[in-house]
Amino acid sequence: MIYLDNQATTRVAPEVLAAMLPYFTEEYGNAASVNHAFGWRAFEAVETSRGQIAQTLNCPAEWIVFTSGATEANNLAIKGVVAAAKRQIQSHVITNAAEHPSVLDVAKRLKRSGVRITILSVDRFGQVDSQQVADAIEPETVLVSVMLANNEVGTINPLAEISRVCRERSVPLHCDAVQAFGKIPLNLAELPIDLLSLSAHKLYGPKGIGALVVRRGERRIPLEPLFDGGGHEHHLRSGTLPVPLIVGFGAACELVASDRDGLRTATANRMAALRDRLWQRLQTELEGVTLNGHPTERLPNNLNVSFDSVNGEALMSSLKGIAVSSGSACSTADPEPSHVLRAMGVSEALSRASLRFGLSRETTEAEIGAAADEVVAAVRKFRAN
Ligand code: PMP
Repeated sequence: MIYLDNQATTRVAPEVLAAMLPYFTEEYGNAASVNHAFGWRAFEAVETSRGQIAQTLNCPAEWIVFTSGATEANNLAIKGVVAAAKRQIQSHVITNAAEHPSVLDVAKRLKRSGVRITILSVDRFGQVDSQQVADAIEPETVLVSVMLANNEVGTINPLAEISRVCRERSVPLHCDAVQAFGKIPLNLAELPIDLLSLSAHKLYGPKGIGALVVRRGERRIPLEPLFDGGGHEHHLRSGTLPVPLIVGFGAACELVASDRDGLRTATANRMAALRDRLWQRLQTELEGVTLNGHPTERLPNNLNVSFDSVNGEALMSSLKGIAVSSGSACSTADPEPSHVLRAMGVSEALSRASLRFGLSRETTEAEIGAAADEVVAAVRKFRAN
């Protein structure tokens, strides 16, 4: 089976696994144990990884707060800022309709507890407009949360402009950079983002580890932790550090850093070329196909396509040779059409008849050719019936 669901998760790279293994069986110390060498070596491994991640982002290592993943990082960022600010004012948070559920559902929960929430709309490409962000900011706004790149359609938001708008108005900015990290340039020395969420498993690292990057210094944002305990990670995330996972996260960043080639990485360029070839084939061999997402401001490994006059569920289940993702959230018994596509104004029927292809550094030309053959044949068959 050809794996083209790399925006859901990726295979752990061999170098990453090799780096992790000794920390399960030999170097199994607790990074917080200060009395012996097992603890010191675990601590050193954690700090090396912290440095590797920070270097990839061009920020100080102290800004990295390890979490269990981006769901937790998003929760910590949004709930943490609101909890820290609530004592003084009735808080207002701004986000947008195309965010991941780990942002939108946090916003919904906060709304139920009395926080005022503004959900900005996105345009037909799924982009947030920086002027709309500016217009929505109020004196009580404690946080703006806008993702760097969308997980379904790959659209990249204008974070340079949005961060400038927030900075000018002294409003903290949180950014879910899970999908963009390692695929497009992300330099925190240039981009004034205050809180940034990351996850290792989208980038050839292990599942269950991520980070919230918390800007420090003059513009340090007050943040309350989600849970209390041993006070790890600057008291922002208590809990014994999962050393093997953290080592894997660092090794995955090394992999990305070793691949830099000017503004875009060589791997990103290769994935984009293969992705474009897939789109070219679908477009020329089928009628009634629409690209979802921004035509140019898009992640190099994402292709999201709607197919006219096809039952999306039936199409998905007929694709036996490729692992892709549909335009519905299939986690529920009654799949809802994608909230991202609906927010972009795509009809309910077309939203249901959409496929997301996610390429990785491992995707080959032959796999793309075989995937195109299978999708073209399946769509033609359904339309003929
Ligand atoms: N944000 C985005 C944009 C994502 O794609 C994902 C993963 N689907 C998450 C957050 C959640 O990440 P994690 O799996 O690390 O909790």
